[in-house]
Amino acid sequence: MLLNDDITTVKGIGEKTALGLGKLGISSVKDLIYYFPRDYQRYDDPIIIKDAHEGERVSVSAKVVSYVDTRKGGRLSITSLSVSDSSGSLRLVFFNSPFLKTVFHKGDEFIFVGTVKIKGSMRVMEMPEYYPVYKYKAMLKSMQPVYSLTKGITNNQIKKSLGNAREAFLKIEDYLSDEIRNEYDLISERSAIEEIHFPLNEDRLKIAIKRLAFDEFIHFLMGVREMRKNNLSVSSSHVITKESISKLDGFKAGLPFSLTSGQESAIRDIIDDMSLGNVMNRLIEGDVGSGKTIVATAALFLNAMSGYQGALMVPTEVLALQHYEDLKALFKPYKIRVELLTGSTSLKDKRSIYENLKSGDISILIGTHALIEDKTEFKDLGLVITDEQHRFGVKQRERLGAKGNYPHVLIMSATPIPRTLAMILYANLDISVIKELPKGRKKIKNCVVGTEYRSTAYKFIQNEIKNGHQAYVICPMVEESETMDLENVENYTDELRNVYKGCNINIEYIHGKMKDEDKAGILKDFINKKIDILVSTTVIEVGINNPNATVMMIENAERFGLAQLHQLRGRVGRGSYQSYCIFINVKQSKESKERLKVLEESNDGFYIATEDLKLRGPGDFFGVRQSGDIMFRLADIYNHADMLRTAQEIVLKYGDDIKIKY
Ligand code: ADP
Ligand code: MG
Repeated sequence: MLLNDDITTVKGIGEKTALGLGKLGISSVKDLIYYFPRDYQRYDDPIIIKDAHEGERVSVSAKVVSYVDTRKGGRLSITSLSVSDSSGSLRLVFFNSPFLKTVFHKGDEFIFVGTVKIKGSMRVMEMPEYYPVYKYKAMLKSMQPVYSLTKGITNNQIKKSLGNAREAFLKIEDYLSDEIRNEYDLISERSAIEEIHFPLNEDRLKIAIKRLAFDEFIHFLMGVREMRKNNLSVSSSHVITKESISKLDGFKAGLPFSLTSGQESAIRDIIDDMSLGNVMNRLIEGDVGSGKTIVATAALFLNAMSGYQGALMVPTEVLALQHYEDLKALFKPYKIRVELLTGSTSLKDKRSIYENLKSGDISILIGTHALIEDKTEFKDLGLVITDEQHRFGVKQRERLGAKGNYPHVLIMSATPIPRTLAMILYANLDISVIKELPKGRKKIKNCVVGTEYRSTAYKFIQNEIKNGHQAYVICPMVEESETMDLENVENYTDELRNVYKGCNINIEYIHGKMKDEDKAGILKDFINKKIDILVSTTVIEVGINNPNATVMMIENAERFGLAQLHQLRGRVGRGSYQSYCIFINVKQSKESKERLKVLEESNDGFYIATEDLKLRGPGDFFGVRQSGDIMFRLADIYNHADMLRTAQEIVLKYGDDIKIKY
C-alpha cells in the first residue's frame, strides 16, 4: 500500500464508504493518515451516580433496574430505561435505537458514559455510550481519538480504516534530517502520526501533537520566507501620486466621522510605504470595531486616484457584499468604479467583470477567493488587501499577489498576538497597530446567564427593538452527527417567531449552507432594518457591520472559543448606542462558567486571548478552536509558542535544505 493509493485499497473501504470519506476530503491513503482527530476521549474510573454533576461527562457503573421501553415521539423513536447503583438511579434515553431491548436485561451491569442532565428530580443521560464491565476495564485510562464525521461515516469506521492502513504509515518519510531532529529533540513525523491516531498515553500524545504543530509552523514560515525573498525591498511600479495624497484630505472630510489617531497614523504609514518607491507589505492590527475598514478604504482611494487597480479579498461572501455596498457609495463622487466578484456572481456578470478588469475600466474589485481564480486578470494591479487575513493561508495571498506586477500588499487583522510571536509569524510584514476604538463608543454591557434567563432576554430584546434597534441571536453550528440539545438555526427561528407572535417583529435566519444570493438578501434586509432579529450561525462572525444592532445573544456560549465569542460580540457596539451581549451558558459546568467570566469582565481582545490560554487545562489538547488562528489545523500559536520559535530557528538556519513534499 502506497501513500498515494486510492482510499479503496484500504481493507473494508468500499465505494459507498469512499464516497462518504470523500466528503471529508479523504480520497487517498495519505489523506486518511493525515486526517487528524479533533479531540480525544479519556475513559476514567467510574464514579457513583450521586456524584455526577449536571453538564459533566462521566462514567458510571450501574445495573439495569427496569424494562426497556420504546415509544414514538414525532419522527423519532425513543427508548428509555432506568439503571442504578448504591447511591442513586439514572434514566437513560436513546433515540432511534429500539434494538437496545435485546441488549439491556434487568440485573445486567454496564458502564455508561455520557453527560448528565437534571430534569426535575431525575438524573438523565441521553445517548450514553455503554460497555460491558470487562471491555471498559481494557479501555480504562486510554485516549480514544474522536474524528470529525459526516453522514454515513462513523468514528469506528475511521479508526478501523486507519488500523487497516498501518503498513502505509511506514512509507512516511521525514523532510527533516536525523541531525536536525536530534539537535532540536523532535520525534519523527512517522511516529508523531502514529501516536496521534493510536496514542499510547497522554504524554506521548502531547509530544506527537507538538511535532505536528511544529510541521504546520514550518510550512507556514517557509511560505513567509518565500514571500519575503520575492517581495522585500522590491522596487514598485505603483508609486502613488502627490495629487492622490492631497485629494485624500477631501475624501476624509466627507466621512461622517473624524479618524482616530490610530487610524490616522496607520494611513500615514501606508502613504509612506506607497509613495517611496518600494513595494508595501503591511499588516494593520486592531481589535474588532477599531475601524480598520476605513484605513483599507483610504489605501484603495490613493491607489485608484493614482490610476492603478486594487483588489480587496475577504473570507465570506456576506462580508464582501457589505464592503462592496459601502465602498461603492463612498467612491461614487470620485467616479471610481467598484465591482463585486464572488462564487455566486452569475457567469454573465463574471465575464463582463473579467473583460472590464483587463481593460482597466474597473478600478476596484471586491470579493471572496473567487478573486484568485485563474481567469481574473488585471490591467495594472497596484494594491492587494486581505481583510480578516487569518482566514487565508499564505498560499492564497501569494496567488492574488502574483496577479499583478508586485502590487502593494495590505493585510487587516483583529487577531491579538503577542509582539514577539507577531514578529515571527509576520516576519515579512511591517505592522501598524490601531490601539483605540473610535470616540463615543459605549462599553458593551455583558451578562452570562443560564437558560432560565431566556425569557427575560427576549423581553429585553423586544424593548430594544421598540427603541428602534436590532438584535442578533447566535446558535452553534450543528454537526450532522450530533443530536437534539443543540439549538439549531431554523428551529430556533420558528420558536422565536412563536415567542414574538403578534408583536410585529420580523425574524429571519442566515447560515452557511444557504445559497449565496439568499444570504446576501437577508443581510441587506438586516442592514436596511427590515429585519429586527437575525438568527445566525457563526457565518456573521467576521466583519459584519450594522451599528444599529445593539443586542447580541449567544446560545450555547460554552461551545465557542473565547476569541470567537469576542469576535461575535464585536458585531454590536459598533455605533454610539449602548450595546449588550448576553451569553447563554447552557451547560453550566464549573469550567464553562470560569471561561465565560473572562468575557463578562473584559472587552479587550488581547486580555481575553491571554486569559484563555491560562484557563486551558492540561487535558485540553487542541484548546478550543480559536477563530483568530484558524490558518493552522492543529497548531495553536499560544499553546505551541515554543514550537513556533523552534520552527523559526530551523527555517533561519536550515531553510535552504528543507524540501517540503506537499
Ligand atoms: P473593524 O476594525 O472591526 O473592521 P470597522 O472598520 O467595520 O471595524 O468599523 C466599525 C464601525 O465603526 C463602522 O460602523 C465604522 O463606520 C465606524 N467607524 C470607523 N472609524 C470610526 C471613527 N473614527 N469614528 C467613528 N466611527 C468610526
Ligand atoms: Mg473588519
